[in-house]
Amino acid sequence: MPEPLVPLVLRSQAKLERLLKRGVDFRAELQFYTFWPEGLATLLQAGYEADGSTMWSALESGSYAAVKLLHHTGNLDPEQCINMLASCPDSDARGIVIQELAERQKKLWGIAMTHLPPETVLQLKVRPDTLLGYKAAQVRALLEENGIETGDVGWRQGRLIYEAARLNLELADQFWDIGFRDVDDMDDQGMTALMKLRTSLDYYTSAPHDILGMAAWLIGKGADTGLCPMTYDFSALHFLGAALGSSMASRIHSKSRLPSSYDAVVHSIILNDSHDSCCCHCSAGGCTPLVAFLRGLDTNRDIHYIKEKAIAFMADMFASLSSKSPETFERKVVPQVLRYITFRALGLTDTCAHPKSEDWQIPEFPPFDPEEAREIHEEERDSIQELECLVRDFVSDYQRLSLPFETFLREHWCVRMHEVLSKKKTLSEEEKNQIREIGVVLESESEDCSDSEAEDCLYKC
Ligand SMILES: [Zn+2]
Ligand SMILES: [Zn+2]
Repeated sequence: MPEPLVPLVLRSQAKLERLLKRGVDFRAELQFYTFWPEGLATLLQAGYEADGSTMWSALESGSYAAVKLLHHTGNLDPEQCINMLASCPDSDARGIVIQELAERQKKLWGIAMTHLPPETVLQLKVRPDTLLGYKAAQVRALLEENGIETGDVGWRQGRLIYEAARLNLELADQFWDIGFRDVDDMDDQGMTALMKLRTSLDYYTSAPHDILGMAAWLIGKGADTGLCPMTYDFSALHFLGAALGSSMASRIHSKSRLPSSYDAVVHSIILNDSHDSCCCHCSAGGCTPLVAFLRGLDTNRDIHYIKEKAIAFMADMFASLSSKSPETFERKVVPQVLRYITFRALGLTDTCAHPKSEDWQIPEFPPFDPEEAREIHEEERDSIQELECLVRDFVSDYQRLSLPFETFLREHWCVRMHEVLSKKKTLSEEEKNQIREIGVVLESESEDCSDSEAEDCLYKC
């Protein structure tokens, strides 16, 4: 074992002081002393200087007494430490890093205001009421380009403060209280912290109500739910719906219900009218945040998954609205849900333009080609007609049967879809085409819709 580590292992002040007297060099081992704050204090008093990575190591090892000691050395690198704050349970230790961060951002902005031309400062569009967030890296780069010394302040890479808060509300409060007031701060792709909640999700420790908690916090502080990223028209509420759906689907064993304290956020997701520009029959006229939620629930698996799992998640999500405002629920929610799950159960091709991967990152590929979408719709014309007829029937059956929605889905929708699917199984599309070619009208096509009715209910892109 290297000699400088011996006092640490033995936790011996006497040994440490003896080695110091003998002139043993502790620089390379300093960061390990974060595990033993008393020893670290002795080394700091003896003149050793901690660097940013020593603070990082103290936070990482959960040695918060060491964090507090290192604070006084002034050698703290908040950029390096910020990712660990959300998992740090010691609010004083978090406060030290945040204080340092705030001071550096103030200093950086002070240098920018003093040295950059006023028109350059104006172009940065920094709000006067908030500390620098994501733009700190841009400001630092501008100063360096202009040959202005920034010293240690400012970040090399942009960071969204409230993305770093992840789902930790106490940490979010600390950021807010010290002066980070721009909850709609955006990254280079126009993504805000609210849009990025999905990527803040830790499957093993967070639950749907953690996502709702942080969403409610951000919205309460003024986050704009209608903002969209630069490349496509999917609003923050769409992202939130998707995050909530995914979170529910990933916690399939959880029996906990959504707390009623989040009703307002839940209702804003399921009742929001903003449609994106998708050209796809899974929604009527573009996806809403509700459709994004249904997609997040992973309802694209198959009818068995919908029956066994997804219906219960939906019932949880819709419980409050369907009991408080049954008419609004019937008018705005029921048709969208019936369309989406029927579309999925029929196995139609999804021609939505937004990312379909499960983390909802901004796509690197161009949006779905509208021409290709039209070709697919033409190929699947018969199944799309069938979808339109089924949706129309389901909506009127729901009104007629007056069953609770969950019961309706289990006892009516599932049964009917099983019938439809087992009929379809017996005849492939190719076989159907061969039958039609000889002039026979198939029973399922003549059942409910005349051709002209089916044309009417077809959604046109
Ligand atoms: Zn869409
Ligand atoms: Zn779609």
